[in-house]
Amino acid sequence: SRQKADEWVNPGMYTRNVWFTDKDEFQALSLRYTGEVYHDVTTAYQRVRILESPKYGKFLALDDMVMTTENDEFHYHEMISHPAIFAHGNVKNVLVIGGGDGGTVREVLRHSGIEKVTMVEIDGEVIKACKQHLPDIAAAFDDPRLELIVGDGISFAEQATHSSYDLIIVDGSDPVGPAEGLFSVGFYNNCYKALKPDGILVAQGESPKFNEAAFTDLHDTIEGLFGKGNAYVSLFYVPTYPTGMWSFQVGTKASATDFGHIDAAEVEAFVQAKGLKYYNSSIHTASLALPNFVRQLLQRK
Ligand code: SAM
Repeated sequence: SRQKADEWVNPGMYTRNVWFTDKDEFQALSLRYTGEVYHDVTTAYQRVRILESPKYGKFLALDDMVMTTENDEFHYHEMISHPAIFAHGNVKNVLVIGGGDGGTVREVLRHSGIEKVTMVEIDGEVIKACKQHLPDIAAAFDDPRLELIVGDGISFAEQATHSSYDLIIVDGSDPVGPAEGLFSVGFYNNCYKALKPDGILVAQGESPKFNEAAFTDLHDTIEGLFGKGNAYVSLFYVPTYPTGMWSFQVGTKASATDFGHIDAAEVEAFVQAKGLKYYNSSIHTASLALPNFVRQLLQRK
């Protein structure tokens, strides 16, 4: 059986009672792991670990938070990239802040129209660990269109040339440690200035069920900068994030850009050609439909 074969390669894989728990004060998500530790290095910023789950494969954990797993990474990486690229229609120059595992730039670079991606990740150890242990996620680091900078995305945004990017993606961790500033108004104001007049911003938007305050504050920030009607919330599922319900938050700089509007035939052709596993034209529309409690959270002021 599969289980027997697995146990032969990795004794204790099913029977060892070791759990990795990602939690806040009130709830948690646990993944059983095999006990195998592929990588465990503490950097100036965080503890970087690669562990293995019998169900989700190898996964990256930063401090005590699950960042990405081999088995469900496509939910997050397809949804952080393709919706904005299709809604905009002519993305050429992209800035990615964070995203050290490489999954986001891998998806962005699937589009042949992309001319340049600048990625600014603060922790070189995350890139190194993922290249070594998660090569299918860290698959596009050698693409000649990618400029990889190991540095702080917050100061990069401060110094960025105004009106230079079609798309800025903030693929940061939760608002603790080095990523705290990735949720500040000042940072988003700098991103806004760095976007071209018709640019789009997409940010890891936390969960309306897990980090309500971070979720609503980010919405207020984006709406404050981009204007009412130009701030969007896109919901999707990630089995390995606490509560499973997660969001990307979007700002479109030109009111003319409707984030909900795509050319469905063009999207479907791309989905087929690239073999995408989560995103399609129906998901694009559906992800913008918000449950009433989420609408109320966003309108609470
Ligand atoms: N998928 C993840 C999630 O939401 O759980 C997020 C991706 S993880 C790869 C986020 C990355 O952002 C980490 O590699 C972290 O080192 C990086 N990061 C955190 N703060 C940063 C900053 N100020 N500048 C650039 N990168 C930063």
